[in-house]
Amino acid sequence: MVEKAYNPFEMAQKQFDTVADMLELDTATRELLRNPLREYHVSIPVRMDDGSVRVFRGFRVQHNDALGPGKGGIRFHPMETIDTVRALAMWMTWKCAVVDIPLGGAKGGVVCDPHNLSMREQEQVCRGYIRQMANIMGPLIDVPAPDVMTTPQHMLWMLDEYEKIHQGKHPGFITGKPVGMGGSKGRTEATGYGLIFTVREALKDMNIRPEDTIASVQGFGNVAQYAIQLYHQIGGKVICVSCWDQEDQTAYAFRKVDGIDFEGLLKITDRFGGIDKKKAEEQGYEILPGDEWLTQEVDILMPCALENAITSENVDRISDKVKIVAEGANGPTTPEADKVLKERGIFMIPDFLANAGGVTCSYFEQVQSNMNYYWERDEVLGKLDVKMTSAFIAVNELAKKRKLYMRDAAYMISIGRVARACRDRGWV
Ligand code: NAD
Repeated sequence: MVEKAYNPFEMAQKQFDTVADMLELDTATRELLRNPLREYHVSIPVRMDDGSVRVFRGFRVQHNDALGPGKGGIRFHPMETIDTVRALAMWMTWKCAVVDIPLGGAKGGVVCDPHNLSMREQEQVCRGYIRQMANIMGPLIDVPAPDVMTTPQHMLWMLDEYEKIHQGKHPGFITGKPVGMGGSKGRTEATGYGLIFTVREALKDMNIRPEDTIASVQGFGNVAQYAIQLYHQIGGKVICVSCWDQEDQTAYAFRKVDGIDFEGLLKITDRFGGIDKKKAEEQGYEILPGDEWLTQEVDILMPCALENAITSENVDRISDKVKIVAEGANGPTTPEADKVLKERGIFMIPDFLANAGGVTCSYFEQVQSNMNYYWERDEVLGKLDVKMTSAFIAVNELAKKRKLYMRDAAYMISIGRVARACRDRGWV
């Protein structure tokens, strides 16, 4: 089967159209929701270190704000396109709606590669972006966050520029700030922990004890590490993880059939989630080709690295033993592979539900920043558990009631909620 190369926005619209049919949405609501409400294209002139001026292209797309202010990251990427930003903004709308937080969907990007920019130049890109966007963003309008290749430092420069323009302190303008500078405790672990809250609920529903399950994970970065930590705490065993090897420019899987030693593995992992191969071998790991994480005889697969990890080429190599696929990454399963998993009856916890712990905690950061009162880590994680668990239960109940695939049920809930908000506001 040859896989089609999708334009991400066309793919997002196609997914939307399928669910709109299932929900029997009227023409006006479809027209409204399959396109962004607003989008902004800006040019950002920056004086470079050598004295020349370079002009960077920047975007902000506000897909829908019927449920509340827009929410979504700002990416720095040399290949950034408006269609990628449009698709991501739409997916943010569905992600916020599925966990029932009062936020809409937005996304931003600047076409640039921070690797080739000095810190001063990066700061100028951040400040220039905000100067162009300061009037169309704000704590009650549209709240940005970090994303691919943007960091808490970038967020602080953006906040500082916003506060210069609008005067006063507005910590709720942006999330992903460092703890102590308006950031929320628990944010680092939120996505990985959120993923395991949903896995725990799925197992409960299937009457399987976590202690009786084993899992294999793609990736060993932020999402994967915290997912593995909590999965171990609830009794599960991970036997295989994989990561990208910077030196060899390829991926490897690391297997220990008795279960990985999480703390030991962390000690030989760099800050990009890359595991030292030689040291892993010394610790007794089998080093396998990168895609072997997916062929393991386990109960749960957790793709937590990147998009298009499960494809029509490799989906048939997934063991019959696998009961659950929990998508920590965004878009790890191609539409063709997804069809196969659906036919095989594998329980899918779809990305925009499974990894919504991150945005939920960003929402908590926004709330704390707006109150200027910060919660302890346990309080944050407790509230996160409540949100993720109720979101999972709502989707699972609909899936059972209507005999739907979990991904379809999750889309029906979120698109249904946004459509209702548009109707209730009298927009359509
Ligand atoms: P990260 O950069 O911390 O880690 C990525 C990991 O994937 C690293 O271990 C890297 O070595 C590995 N990797 C990269 N290419 C690989 C390959 N071909 N095969 C195997 N492993 C490979 O990133 P992260 O923050 O953990 O994010 C992972 C995914 O989760 C991304 O899709 C991201 O968009 C999504 N996500 C992250 C968050 C968050 O809060 N961090 C929230 C929602 C979604």
